[in-house]
Amino acid sequence: MMRAIARYGVRTIPGDEKEIVAAFRRGEAVEGPAINKFEGRFAEFHSMQNAVSASFGRMAFYYILRALELPPESEILFPALTFWVVPEMARRAGLRPVFVDVDAHTFNLDPSLIETTITERTRVIVPTHLYGQPCDMNQIMRIAERHNLIVVEDCAQAAGARYRGRRVGTFGQAAFFSFQMLKGINTYGGGMAVTDDAAIAARVRAQSEAEPLQTTTELIKRFTSSIAARSLVSPKGFAWWGFPIGAALSNVSDADLSKYFWEKIRPLEKFPPSYRRRLSNVQAILGLRALNRLDEFNERSQSHADVYTRGLANCPAIETPHAIDQAEHVYYQYCIYVSNPKLAKRRAIRRGVDFETTHVDVCSSLPLFKEFAANCPGAEKTAEALQLPVYSRLRTSDVERVLRVVKDVVADLPALNRQVASGAEAETVRPTANALSTN
Ligand SMILES: *Cc1c(COP(=O)(O)O)cnc(C)c1O
Repeated sequence: MMRAIARYGVRTIPGDEKEIVAAFRRGEAVEGPAINKFEGRFAEFHSMQNAVSASFGRMAFYYILRALELPPESEILFPALTFWVVPEMARRAGLRPVFVDVDAHTFNLDPSLIETTITERTRVIVPTHLYGQPCDMNQIMRIAERHNLIVVEDCAQAAGARYRGRRVGTFGQAAFFSFQMLKGINTYGGGMAVTDDAAIAARVRAQSEAEPLQTTTELIKRFTSSIAARSLVSPKGFAWWGFPIGAALSNVSDADLSKYFWEKIRPLEKFPPSYRRRLSNVQAILGLRALNRLDEFNERSQSHADVYTRGLANCPAIETPHAIDQAEHVYYQYCIYVSNPKLAKRRAIRRGVDFETTHVDVCSSLPLFKEFAANCPGAEKTAEALQLPVYSRLRTSDVERVLRVVKDVVADLPALNRQVASGAEAETVRPTANALSTN
């Protein structure tokens, strides 16, 4: 059977499974010394004073928001392009999300648009370092100082990335990280808040430690279901199910399987019980191991990204990711623009390579946030982007194959008009009728 290349790859370290079993055997799956150690090492890695673990990145964020003790209905600025759950947590904390458009080139907050959205009720801004690329923190911090705003960085997709030599998560008053299975540090769920502010840290910790411990049964379920999910995106698992189904579907529609993986977009009026838990000791053991390897894994993704960027430089139908000055992108995702993304994706899956159209939500136009709707053409444009597999566990030969496939599938596609493909005016050349009907 052909080796198929899935869109995602989970970061694991040989020996992880043994460590998991050993922690259960020792009776240290739920509680144990690794939790404090992981928090301490995480803070130290970021040269920050405090790190507090949580059941999810989103809960770390929620604790931070509550710890800020803001007046109800304070406004909080988010990029229009982000995981829907983050602004939803702000609403749960009694705040009003305000969406600021992103630069379609960088996928991050467009600093030139921030000030137009600030009112006398604005208290917080959340720069999200999307897809592994740091935001322009110089400009954002300058604006925040000018308007006396608190900065809370969303580092869920960018653990380890640096801006002007400094790690993301160290610029604002607080930051949060996610340790979901597909993130840079994988503890099969989990999150962390970091801050240098002792009062914020104490209030975050009080909330986090008030949650009940996970039970052993819950933990066993967490690992069995995660490991089952993980095997589906492994090269073997993917070759057996994802590739055949994806290739078959590509004949009949543009349906995308990934919508069955992502959480349903819904109001979180009441938190599911899994939110109200503490990070376990066994997850902290995995977190410590993953943190030790974070830079090495990020470097692998970066070198894969370099292969694509160099290899695609002369493809007129493709625009490669735009890294901003002095930012060290860690490529959680490698997003390109193609003149006909759907056709490119369909052709690629038939050759055993799975591209994803972007899955991050354009929150400014979601029905969930209709009360906060905003016109964000930059974020809307990102729906046309395509993600190439760039995860650290890809082999060099996989990366070369992806590059060959992507070049092949766009060879006859029309050129992208790059000059105008920026920000609000972004507009790609429409594919010709001819290209649309080609299969
Ligand atoms: C994954 C993610 C989160 C939240 O992480 P959880 O641990 O799932 O709560 C927040 N923001 C972004 C941009 C993410 O990708």
